[in-house]
Amino acid sequence: MFRLWVEYFGKVFGKVTVAVPPQYTSQNCSNCGTTVKKSLSERTHQCSHCGTVLDRDHNAALNILAIGLNRVGHTQISTPGSSSTSVN
Ligand SMILES: [Zn+2]
Repeated sequence: MFRLWVEYFGKVFGKVTVAVPPQYTSQNCSNCGTTVKKSLSERTHQCSHCGTVLDRDHNAALNILAIGLNRVGHTQISTPGSSSTSVN
C-alpha cells in the first residue's frame, strides 16, 4: 500500500520512484558497508570499522538512497511525451 502511494505521488509530481527492499538498511554502515548489528532500541549507528557515527535513521536513509540510485542506473525510464531517457 505504501509503495502504491509513493508511485502515485511520483507520477503526480513527475519524479522517479524506486522501491527498495528494506532489509539491512539500518544494519549496514552507509559509509563502508560493514554490517553493524544493532537492536531496535539503539538509535545511533556507530561503525567500529570506519568510525562513522550517525543517527540510526540517517544511516538507513543514506543506504536506501544509495540502493535506489543504483537501481535507477539499471532501469529504463521513459516519460510520456518524450522519447529520451532522463533521470533528475
Ligand atoms: Zn563504516
